[in-house]
Amino acid sequence: LVSREARESRSVVEVGGVAIGPDTFTLIAGPCAVETPEQTSAAARLAKAAGASLLRAGAFKPRSSPYGFRGLRTEALRILAEVRAETGMPVVTEVVDSRDVELVAGWADMLQVGTRNMQNFGLLEAVGDSGKPVLLKRGMSATVEEWLLAAEYIALRGNTGIVLCERGIRTFEPATRNTLDLSAVLVAQARSHLPVVVDPSHAAGRRELVLPLARAAVAAGADGVMIDIHPDPAAALCDGPQALGEPEVSGLAGAMRDWATLA
Ligand code: PEP
Repeated sequence: LVSREARESRSVVEVGGVAIGPDTFTLIAGPCAVETPEQTSAAARLAKAAGASLLRAGAFKPRSSPYGFRGLRTEALRILAEVRAETGMPVVTEVVDSRDVELVAGWADMLQVGTRNMQNFGLLEAVGDSGKPVLLKRGMSATVEEWLLAAEYIALRGNTGIVLCERGIRTFEPATRNTLDLSAVLVAQARSHLPVVVDPSHAAGRRELVLPLARAAVAAGADGVMIDIHPDPAAALCDGPQALGEPEVSGLAGAMRDWATLA
């Protein structure tokens, strides 16, 4: 269902009135996690000023350590709805458990399935059933084929509003958190009609690499990028080292204007 055999032309996915697909370039930006209403609102305003049309932020955070900040859950969903009302930006947020899909779908415009859950088949079916657009991140150890088959699980439930997101894979190289695999963008676009975006923030894990990698993603033909932004990265409860703060966001705004004209 997600292959080029099923549909030759590349598809466009609508998220709260925002199109993601081949004829446009979409910036999705926001904090890794919702921490407070003020922090989320400030991050959203920075994201919007940089040209982002969708707000990302985690309410349910999948953390490698159970002692890490795991998100404000329902409270965060409420904050996100308030910030959407304030900024007009549709919201993308992760769901980590199939039991929470109905709850999250009731608040969010797009459901994110994270790298750790790419092959959580019950969750894939549940987000498929929700009928909401889905941002499907590539598993950090998944092949492109496995990634597309994961998308197939969602599509088989009648939901083809799927956007693929390359976010880096685990390799032997410890200099970056993950290795951004831009060739996967090209391969996925060749094999599938779904839009493909890139998350350089989670791939690199390091702020100074985010904009150069985003630029490389644009050059490779990605349909958009997803970038972590925080009004005070040093105080972030989650993934601060990869978040762009105010000084870098102006660079992102300038770059975004160029990228939009390339689309
Ligand atoms: C995220 O985008 O908040 C996230 C946790 O990403 P990933 O699943 O790619 O690690």
